[in-house]
Amino acid sequence: MISKQKAINWQRIYDLLAEQVPASKFDAWIRPIHAVVNNHQLSLSVPSRFFLDGLRDHYEKLLGELVQKEFGDDVEVIFTVDPSLGTVTKEKHSKKEASSIDGFIDPRFTFENFVVGSSNEFCHAACRAVADQPGETYNPLYIHGGVGLGKTHLINAVANSLLEKDDMKIAYRTSERFTNELISAIRGGTTEQFRNRYRQVDVLIIDDIQFIAGKGSTQEEFFHTFNALYEVRKQIILTSDRTPRDMKHLEDRLKSRFNWGLVADIQPPDLETRLAILSRKAELAGVTLPDDVAFLLASRISSNVRELEGALTRLTAHATLTGKIINMDFARHVLRDLLHEQVRTITVDDIQKKIAGYYNIRIQDMRSKKRTRNIALPRQVAMYACKQLTSMSLPEIGESFGGRDHTTVLHAVRKIKRVMQESSDFQNEIDRALSLLR
Ligand code: ADP
Ligand code: MG
Repeated sequence: MISKQKAINWQRIYDLLAEQVPASKFDAWIRPIHAVVNNHQLSLSVPSRFFLDGLRDHYEKLLGELVQKEFGDDVEVIFTVDPSLGTVTKEKHSKKEASSIDGFIDPRFTFENFVVGSSNEFCHAACRAVADQPGETYNPLYIHGGVGLGKTHLINAVANSLLEKDDMKIAYRTSERFTNELISAIRGGTTEQFRNRYRQVDVLIIDDIQFIAGKGSTQEEFFHTFNALYEVRKQIILTSDRTPRDMKHLEDRLKSRFNWGLVADIQPPDLETRLAILSRKAELAGVTLPDDVAFLLASRISSNVRELEGALTRLTAHATLTGKIINMDFARHVLRDLLHEQVRTITVDDIQKKIAGYYNIRIQDMRSKKRTRNIALPRQVAMYACKQLTSMSLPEIGESFGGRDHTTVLHAVRKIKRVMQESSDFQNEIDRALSLLR
């Protein structure tokens, strides 16, 4: 067969890549390539193994497509490492730098060590997306949720993951530290430096932003930093213990900015996720946690992952110091104070009965298919109560309410929360209902 194939010409591919790849990436990844053509082979040499991995991750596909389009299928692209190229490229491209971080992050808080369950999957996915494409997907990313549910862990995971990229300048602060720095900058007359420092970063992460509420000059400064970064599409990530709307004493212009990107909430984990977290933490700590002990902890300590972790740490420490093995008796003894607090368990039957009584409907209606408002609302309240007061998962709750889907439960929980936020009357109504159960 006569081949109509054109001679392989690296320059042609190089020019096409220059059109398609952003300049900074082109300088970093394509320019350093040394190409040699040999019959049907295009051999591409790069300075290091690390470089090779990066190049293949980002551009192998595109390279392959261009080569095939220009020169046909039977061209083989080969990658090789040639360390002698290193010195040249370094000089030529001293601009390409490793990523850096200003602030303290915890190297143990990674995505790999984060257990995903229905309570945090949305937030986790948002953080992943931001780590993959900072500044391009959700900006700002605002994470809110109660204490000890993994907010700090997740934003550290984003930072840890960004550190593996090139050329990322990350600043990580608690809002307290941000405030303190600002105060000393004001005192020392160095606000200009303070400003420049923050405005040069690619990613700004501030943990527990609720603490800037009410602090006039910090808010003011943060507002300007926010705008400066946002305008040039630099990523901003914030966490808080509450929604932007619930931040009393926060200026409206900041509240509204916090809503510009994505607001993601993180909920207390269900039993299954708590068990998975325990098992992951035990594995990381190198301890063997028997299933019944794990279940005891996970079912009794339900509202806060930090406490759950604390219980595990305490168990491990006692076991190591006394040389005993961890079993049920040992756990009950060591954790007696923690476990006692939460002994009284509320069942779904209690909840359905009390809430039905409160709203004057029949308990059967809770589990029926009826969707009239006078039935649907109490049912949603009861679902919400189950989520708050028991360790049941969304599917389990759905099952107890006439075999409903977990998304129906999620919808109910979110709706009740939303209306509670919007109306203090409704909030009182719900507080009274729940107080019947405690
Ligand atoms: P927050 O900032 O929301 O108060 P943290 O991120 O400090 O909570 O989390 C408290 C502890 O619980 C940390 O040690 C964290 O690693 C752990 N943790 C929380 N959620 C998870 C999870 N889904 N998987 C693994 N560890 C978790
Ligand atoms: Mg935190």
